[in-house]
Order: sequence, then C-alpha cells, then structure tokens
Amino acid sequence: MNQVIIVSAPSGSGKSTLVNNLKRREGEFVFSVSYTTRSPRGDEMEGREYHFVTRESFLTMRDRDEFVEWAQVFDDFYGTHRRYFAVAAAEKKDLLLDIDVQGAQKLREKYPDAVSIFILAPSREELVKRLQHRGDVSEEVIRKRVAKAALEIEEYSRYDYVVVNDDVDTATDRLYSIVKSARIRTRDAGVQNTVQGILRTFEQR
Ligand code: ADP
Ligand code: 5GP
Repeated sequence: MNQVIIVSAPSGSGKSTLVNNLKRREGEFVFSVSYTTRSPRGDEMEGREYHFVTRESFLTMRDRDEFVEWAQVFDDFYGTHRRYFAVAAAEKKDLLLDIDVQGAQKLREKYPDAVSIFILAPSREELVKRLQHRGDVSEEVIRKRVAKAALEIEEYSRYDYVVVNDDVDTATDRLYSIVKSARIRTRDAGVQNTVQGILRTFEQR
C-alpha cells in the first residue's frame, strides 16, 4: 500500500460529490467501502457507496475484529473493513477512506503517516441548503447535523489539509492536487523505490 488518504467532512458538505469526481478523474486508488447499518439513500448501490448490513451482522463482524475502526454516527454504525488495507497493499495502490472525525482520529493513531483532508461547506447557510437539497432528511435531522457540523469543524486542525467546497470543480481540483502531492512525499513507497533505483545507477560506475 502506498498512501492512506483520509477524507472527512460534516454531513452534507459535498464530500461524496468530491470523492466521486475524484474517482472519475482517476482510478489509481482503492476506495474503502464502509459497512453501515443505515439504509441506502437516493441512488446509492450496495457495494459502491457502502455495504448495507443489519445491526446484527455489523455487531457480529465487529466482534470478530473485522473492522480497523468503527464508530456510531447519529443513530447508525459505520465500520472500515480490514480487507481494503490488504487489497491496497497487494495492488500497491493508495487507499482512500471517507470516514468521520472519530474514525479519522483512530486511523491517525494506527497510521501516523496517513494524509488527512477535511472538507467543509463555505457557510452554515450553504450547509443547510445542501442538506435540504439532498432531500432525504427532516428538519429535525438537519438541525442535529448542523449542530454536529460545528463540533466537527472545530476539529479541523487535526487534519493535514482543508478543502472548502465552494465551487465543485475548484474543490475537486484541490482534492486532486493533495492526492498527487501525497504521492511524491519521501515516505511514499513508490518514491522510495525510485530514489533507490537512481542511487543504484551511482553504484554501477
Ligand atoms: P456529503 O457526502 O458530504 O454528505 P453530498 O456529496 O451528498 O454530501 O452533497 C450534499 C448535497 O450538496 C448534494 O445535493 C450535492 O449535489 C450538493 N453539493 C455538493 N457540492 C456542492 C457545491 N460545491 N455546490 C453546491 N452544491 C453542492
Ligand atoms: P452518511 O450516512 O452521510 O453517508 O455518513 C455519515 C458519516 O459517517 C460521514 O461523516 C461519513 O464520513 C461517516 N462514515 C462513513 N463510513 C465510515 C466508517 O467506516 N467509519 C467511520 N468512523 N465513519 C464513517
């Protein structure tokens, strides 16, 4: 595995939109598809955005230690399955994870070299508009999500990068730039191989 790239954002900020744009722009990473006990929303598909499971299955998986991290977000459980780490390692690709601030903190402890990115909407008003536009939640749920957003935004400085999702194309460009920069860090396995290869050319003389 090369880089572990963590993306977090308050619900409704446009993280799925940006991550989907990034996936369309380039396929050179493995995307960790989380397990969740919540129901599919809109045109979400099993195995694409999430693996949708019952609470009972989730708890069985958790007890078998299948998750690298898991958290309760609002009223549902979400977990990152270990197998995506194995797949990314086998394919020597970057692993991209879309997880909340609790999960990000747990993963940073396990993978201190992970690159973490915090995405946020440009204002409270815009966040409310986006949650309403998504059209799948009641006023009560929106109120809870906005309150949680403020708490999450206060955690921003734990992340390496911030992307303000004002204009969607500009924000996608910013996200893509971060991913590209991560790949030329000295701690990247590919970079290390390249430099070792260059060093070997010096030994041949
Ligand atoms: P999240 O995954 O963070 O919960 P979504 O990607 O589902 O958020 O986006 C929430 C809503 O906001 C969607 O209706 C989406 O089309 C819209 N949206 C996303 N990014 C932008 C943007 N930059 N400007 C305006 N609307 C946006
Ligand atoms: P949503 O239900 O809006 O798709 O996601 C709600 C929140 O759960 C988002 O902040 C999302 O990043 C987070 N989330 C999704 N998958 C995981 C996961 O596997 N672990 C953790 N900790 N959070 C997750």
